[in-house]
Amino acid sequence: MPLLEIKNLQIEFGSGARAARAVDGVSLSLEAGKTLCLVGESGSGKSVTALSIARLLPSPPARYVGGEIRLEGRDVLKMSSRELRGIRGGIVSYVFQEPGASLNPVFRIGAQIKESLGYHRPSAATDAEVLRLLKLVGIPAPESRLRNYPHELSGGMQQRVMIAMALASQPKLLVADEPTTALDVTIQAQIIELLADLRQQLGMALLLITHNLGIVGDLADDVAVMYAGQIVEQGPAREILQRPLHPYSQALIQSVPRLEADVERLTAIPGTVPLPGSFPTGCRFHPRCSRAQASCSAQPPELDSVQTGRRVRCPLWKASVATQADSQPA
Ligand code: SF4
Repeated sequence: MPLLEIKNLQIEFGSGARAARAVDGVSLSLEAGKTLCLVGESGSGKSVTALSIARLLPSPPARYVGGEIRLEGRDVLKMSSRELRGIRGGIVSYVFQEPGASLNPVFRIGAQIKESLGYHRPSAATDAEVLRLLKLVGIPAPESRLRNYPHELSGGMQQRVMIAMALASQPKLLVADEPTTALDVTIQAQIIELLADLRQQLGMALLLITHNLGIVGDLADDVAVMYAGQIVEQGPAREILQRPLHPYSQALIQSVPRLEADVERLTAIPGTVPLPGSFPTGCRFHPRCSRAQASCSAQPPELDSVQTGRRVRCPLWKASVATQADSQPA
């Protein structure tokens, strides 16, 4: 049984004629100890999907209109408030994008981590455990850092503190929602490396939300690419990174800057992600797709199974497979 299983999830904001469906039929699965990266541009529905796992979306305006979210086999959408408090931290913890906005500026970081421990593991709410967590996330000289206020730490150190707080409850699933977006490029790499190390050391599962396919490579077991509220491609990370079959996945990979590539200009995807409530007819990607045909604006494509564990929402995937086979060295 997977640790996390999302089946045909549908989430709307608003109601009646003004209802806008932000997540439309998303299905995902994550085994204990594995890493799944959910990738797509801002506005594609990744964060809404991630927040729904512990039902953290304010409702209203959010409404869960269909599907299931199973954590260790139990449907989160049917849980009572008391059961939800149990899984928040107990099974799933979150790390968000802006550590500076998540930490309380008027309390020392040691006190904030201890408060988190007191909530989830009261018997472990000690200075020794706070120090252990700070060491675990690679904070140098943790004994002196305990007494720092958040503003005395760099963005990278603040994010390490947030990760320590998320780990205080010993979660089985860590959801990291764009954890490096607000950080410098060199610090981004350190935080990704830290998450990879922690996942391995602690044996927890990791759901990483990112718009940057470039950081997925060494970390992910599986990748799901989202666009306009739907999964457009999913499967093993190596396959998707080396042989993407959906034009959107291909465009995301081409837009990643590469040091070894001698290019004057990065490839950009024209236009922007449409807003929920105003998705185009047919394939939602067709106004931006370089391979769009006349039929693409009429018929919404199905998520086809290409092979076990690999699915693509574009009928041209067979042509992509053939093109990639032709370009392989003999
Ligand atoms: Fe592009 Fe058409 Fe495939 Fe959509 S269905 S991704 S528009 S080729």
